[in-house]
Amino acid sequence: MIIHLKSSVNDADVAKISQELDAFHIKKPEFHVLVTPSALKEVPVRYEKLVEESFVFPNDMQLSSADYFSNTREIDINGVKIGGATNNTMVIAGPCSVESEEQITQSAELMVEQGISTLRAGCYKPRTSPYSFQGMGAEGLKLLDKMRTKYGLNIITEVRDTTHVDEVIEVADIVQIGAKAMYDQGILRRCGQSRKPILLKRGFGTNLQEFVQAAEFILSGGNDNVILCERGIRTFETKTRFTLDLCGVAYLKEYTNLPIILDPSHAMGYRYGVPDLARACTAMGVDGLLIEVHPDPSVAKSDAAQQLDHNTFRDLLGTLRPIASAIGRTII
Ligand code: PEP
Ligand code: MN
Repeated sequence: MIIHLKSSVNDADVAKISQELDAFHIKKPEFHVLVTPSALKEVPVRYEKLVEESFVFPNDMQLSSADYFSNTREIDINGVKIGGATNNTMVIAGPCSVESEEQITQSAELMVEQGISTLRAGCYKPRTSPYSFQGMGAEGLKLLDKMRTKYGLNIITEVRDTTHVDEVIEVADIVQIGAKAMYDQGILRRCGQSRKPILLKRGFGTNLQEFVQAAEFILSGGNDNVILCERGIRTFETKTRFTLDLCGVAYLKEYTNLPIILDPSHAMGYRYGVPDLARACTAMGVDGLLIEVHPDPSVAKSDAAQQLDHNTFRDLLGTLRPIASAIGRTII
């Protein structure tokens, strides 16, 4: 249950009530938000006078629920806005990994040329083999920081584990929690304490309830800026890397208030399918796309098979704009 307590209730009383109800407390200027387990269905009578409004939920999808508020949350990333009434579809693009200054500079320059505001690239890569390229780590973060300053781009980069979560939060404009890290409660809770936008990817074996509950870990810490990312789930199919769950996206659009970004690159795993999927995703009216692009995919140190080259990306963007505009959206 979510309970809005009047702002006149003092902090000591709020702390006492939170403890009694086993609730998270998020302090807002207008009221105190208490989030209890969803099993609580009624405000205890002794607190009724202190309550401004309350909301009951069938399960622990609470702060994220469209029943709490029906509009998609607006997320402001240094003036670049998605969700709310914006009708923006934000393209996030860049290589899988930061590999060198030259490579990431070429990527940043492509974003500037194409009017894209957000550059992606991983520095801490969650690989399935310890012998694969693990990312440049802190050196990579420094390069991303440099790209932000030099080109005025927003940076999204991923956190792999809690050892470097603070460093990533410090540098990133959007913190990406990857498909394998999304169950890491240390990462989720730490991101809940931050106010930076968090892009939470769905694990490939994660059902929608679990996915949204992972988002609740961040939201209940007081961070309102959570974006969901569908990047493909594992099915019986082996011809493609994963299966992009567009039905799941329709569900999330209907039942949650969180903006949604689709990642056709990791879902497909092969570059030939990415442009068609990106067009289909745009037509679904989502809040953004995440697309992997590399100056020379043939030498990429991670996810080489799925990254687009720069010319293919330019052509793709040209086709996304009219699709977005046909459904009243703008590619940003
Ligand atoms: C990535 O974005 O490069 C990545 C590793 O994605 P995922 O966590 O979805 O596998
Ligand atoms: Mn990748």
